[in-house]
Amino acid sequence: MLGKINDRKLPVSPPADAGRPAACRTWDSRLCVIMRLLLIEDETSLLDLVQRSLTRAGFTTDAVGTADEARGALSGSRYDAVVLDLGLPDEDGLAILRDLRGGRDTTPVLILTARDGVEDRVTGLNTGADDYLLKPFAMPELIARLKALLRRPSGALGVVLEAGNIRFDTAGREVMVDGRLLALTAREMTLLENLLRRAGRVVPKRHLEERVYGFDDEVTPNSLEVLLHRLRRKLAGGGFSGEIHTIRGVGYMLAETAA
Ligand code: CA
Repeated sequence: MLGKINDRKLPVSPPADAGRPAACRTWDSRLCVIMRLLLIEDETSLLDLVQRSLTRAGFTTDAVGTADEARGALSGSRYDAVVLDLGLPDEDGLAILRDLRGGRDTTPVLILTARDGVEDRVTGLNTGADDYLLKPFAMPELIARLKALLRRPSGALGVVLEAGNIRFDTAGREVMVDGRLLALTAREMTLLENLLRRAGRVVPKRHLEERVYGFDDEVTPNSLEVLLHRLRRKLAGGGFSGEIHTIRGVGYMLAETAA
């Protein structure tokens, strides 16, 4: 039952009466797309149960039972979130998490484990986990927590984001270029953070506007461009090795190195 990686390209078919993806009918309509999860769990019966429940809840899930299979899946696909068991047969689940974060991957990770010590929990969270759920758990709680993670603007909390020679401590709200502190306004930081969390990928303009501006802010069609212009100037002045590209009509992308 494990190692379903080979099937992972098969879409989960929505029920015949569904006009839109299952996720849209079951929860937050703002996330009206199928979310793709990776489940890493070596207990076959639990894995099957969780996978079935998550599929019913509208998620597309790939399931693996070893750290080795997990690494294979993670290197070949991009997931919206990962559910990670710590006690795996071939390796400690934390090693997978450490490698993900070490590789600047901010995919949300929820640890699912029987280890209930405070120290275990702290270690998990410090390694870059976004949430922690103890076994035994109630399925609705797992689903609710995953939804909460996916609603967050981005991945791991308290993680240091890096791209090229820039380093953004998201907890301390500090940006360094080559070890030198870069003075940015709160808005410039929010904009940079959202671009950094998706470095190498295009971030829609609309998404950035929603993150940067509140309901009460006066926003003109040009506001974001003006802010980006200032951010680009400060980054270039600070010696940033990469650049922020404009993808016309779509959004923006932060590249680690200048073209
Ligand atoms: Ca286990």
